[in-house]
Amino acid sequence: MARVYNFNPGPAALPLPALQRCQAELLEYPGAGLSIMEMSHRSKEFEQVLADTQALFRKLMGLSDAYKILFLGGGASLQFTMIPMNFIPAGGSADYVVTGEWARRACKEANLVAKGRVAASSEDKQFSYLPAADALDLDPAAAYVHLTSNNTIFGTQWSTFPDVHGKPLVADMSSDILCRRTDFNRFSMIYAGAQKNLGPAGVTVIFLRDDFADTANKNLPTLLAYETHRKNNSLYNTPPVFAIYMIKLMLEWMENVGGLAAVEKTNQQKAELLYKTIDESGGFYRGTVRSDCRSWMNAPLRLSSEELETKFLSAAKKEGLVGLKGHRSVGGIRVSMYNAVSLEAIQVLTDFMKAFQKSH
Ligand SMILES: *Cc1c(COP(=O)(O)O)cnc(C)c1O
Repeated sequence: MARVYNFNPGPAALPLPALQRCQAELLEYPGAGLSIMEMSHRSKEFEQVLADTQALFRKLMGLSDAYKILFLGGGASLQFTMIPMNFIPAGGSADYVVTGEWARRACKEANLVAKGRVAASSEDKQFSYLPAADALDLDPAAAYVHLTSNNTIFGTQWSTFPDVHGKPLVADMSSDILCRRTDFNRFSMIYAGAQKNLGPAGVTVIFLRDDFADTANKNLPTLLAYETHRKNNSLYNTPPVFAIYMIKLMLEWMENVGGLAAVEKTNQQKAELLYKTIDESGGFYRGTVRSDCRSWMNAPLRLSSEELETKFLSAAKKEGLVGLKGHRSVGGIRVSMYNAVSLEAIQVLTDFMKAFQKSH
């Protein structure tokens, strides 16, 4: 077996111990005589998986009992639609902090079903920075404020979140959830597609605080109402059982390596090593975002020409370093270093970067 160093932006790397555990339990889930994919979502085995996954999230995040944890299909993108449908009252609006492509799409969807106001945007400089936390133009009547914690494509990340003056704060944390300790309890709602930092594609995890959930609009189509999923503990219809099970294995791995504090420490070391390599390259590698806004999760970088970037990518691939191509909308290189990417992987990558620079 020759597993590569995987820097894919999503779906992305999973920890080897979680994959191995999945492999060991694939044909027979312990004691069940069949696999987790082949049993009822209402079986006692799966109900236990669901409860264990929720309990692991609560423990790792320090999340209070005021939140329900839901598992839905449709990707993070469906939340772009469900959030305004559920939480903008008739004739009302919500505020959006537009710091990247995903944030822009979230705002666009809000405007298809209600009204999404842009409270701040960094589009003027290609999303290469974050607006100052005190520079948001907030509407006192907004139903909520929506932001994207990590800008997956352009590579910025909020290190502290803006004060929204008591408004419900809703965050898309798809690409950085659980990358470090955060006061998760200050959010009215957090959502994350699993395929970057939590597990495989196919499930979106939602942390929904009861006081906010209680304000939801009534008379929505059944599947599009959070109330349906909240009342039924995500079992109104068949949830993505296998993806939820994989998240459980991922969270158990995080617990085993020392919880969120340990994950944070490794992520910080990874980011520092990578950015140091860029900064000490004398301009051979160029980061594309303002340095105080740099993401720990996605680092876009450019070389002096597209031709050199193509050479870089193919030389990296030969060394078993894959998934480094920048997003099609920005080009260049993007290093995605989510929770399951090891410090060793970044060491191997930065050694490669130094050697490539020497020989070019
Ligand atoms: C990838 C991503 C999405 C889209 O997720 P899907 O599950 O593909 O819909 C949304 N927001 C952010 C921040 C992302 O990184």
